Amino acid sequence: MKDQSIQAYLASQRTDKNRPTVLAFPVLYPREVLTALDLCAWERWSEHPSSDGADAGKLQGYLCPTVRGAQGVLARKDHGARAAIIPHTCDSMQGLAAIAKSTPGWEIPVVTFRHPRGTDRPSSRLFLRDELKAFIASLEEVFDRKLDLKKLTEAIELHRKLEGLLGEVLRGRPWLDISDEDLYATLRQLEYKHPEDSCEALQPLADKVDRTKPRKGIGLVISGMVPEPEGFFETLDDAGGYVAADDYAAFGRRLPAYDGPIEDDPIGSVVERLLLMPPCPTRSSKVTRRIAHLLKLATDSGARGVILHTVKFCEPELFDVATLRRGLEKEGLKVLHVETEFEPQVTGQIATRLEAFLEMLDDGRSE
Ligand code: SF4
Repeated sequence: MKDQSIQAYLASQRTDKNRPTVLAFPVLYPREVLTALDLCAWERWSEHPSSDGADAGKLQGYLCPTVRGAQGVLARKDHGARAAIIPHTCDSMQGLAAIAKSTPGWEIPVVTFRHPRGTDRPSSRLFLRDELKAFIASLEEVFDRKLDLKKLTEAIELHRKLEGLLGEVLRGRPWLDISDEDLYATLRQLEYKHPEDSCEALQPLADKVDRTKPRKGIGLVISGMVPEPEGFFETLDDAGGYVAADDYAAFGRRLPAYDGPIEDDPIGSVVERLLLMPPCPTRSSKVTRRIAHLLKLATDSGARGVILHTVKFCEPELFDVATLRRGLEKEGLKVLHVETEFEPQVTGQIATRLEAFLEMLDDGRSE
């Protein structure tokens, strides 16, 4: 049903606004370029690997469910999209891009986007600029459209507005009196809505933030890939906790530190904005930067603990878990690591661990 309403929205974007659909796989790509080219991105963060065989045979079974689900989406061909973007943000996605490009039966052009690894260096800017130009050229060719730099400037402004609203909502979370379930139901609309409509969806939440009224419950920082499975936040809520600060790759990790300069150079502005994103293991950010970022989120939001919520077999995230835990606990924050894999519902084991963690925070005891 959810998928049907998304498909209906995207179909209306195609017919009423001449905005073809582009599939976008995790994690980060220059979204402003799509907006400027009048394309509508449908981000696929958490497809359930199918049991109909559509995603079998090409990827190893021990890879994460995100990439196996992505393969299923491409193989089933029922998405209505005219192109797919596969950013090179982890080895699994990189492998999927190579397979997709050499599988003509999937009948969809694949556009890749590579990120510089590790710290921000002068060479990162040069690399990103070249990569961005290649990305634009590929989309121009697929859609037979030319990017207008004036439209790119307007698109950057629109995305800044969207990020401003998202920032108001996420940073205002400790004073926003709605459930996490409702919050994430709205946030997940950003995965397929055009940024104009995403702004409309976020505005009522931003208007509800009332800094005179702190929200009740034990605030937590949550860091991971995607807010799944269903029932996760309900369980957290029942145990007395809520997400006070978000570091999900799909949301908080896409808020640049500031708007970014270079008003008269939109290409340079897109490059800077990519470099201004919070640290993420899929771009090989230093784990010390991640610890500092999570500590700041906890301090600013008054969170008392951190949940590291990883997708099963997600190597980039898992690689950081032990160091993150040590660094955060050294600063007095309690840490819980949970792993999920797009189960239809939260499992009893995860629910018990969430409840025990919240109980421990409530008692103020050490783990
Ligand atoms: S390994 Fe991690 S970053 Fe890569 S696709 Fe899977 S969940 Fe995403």
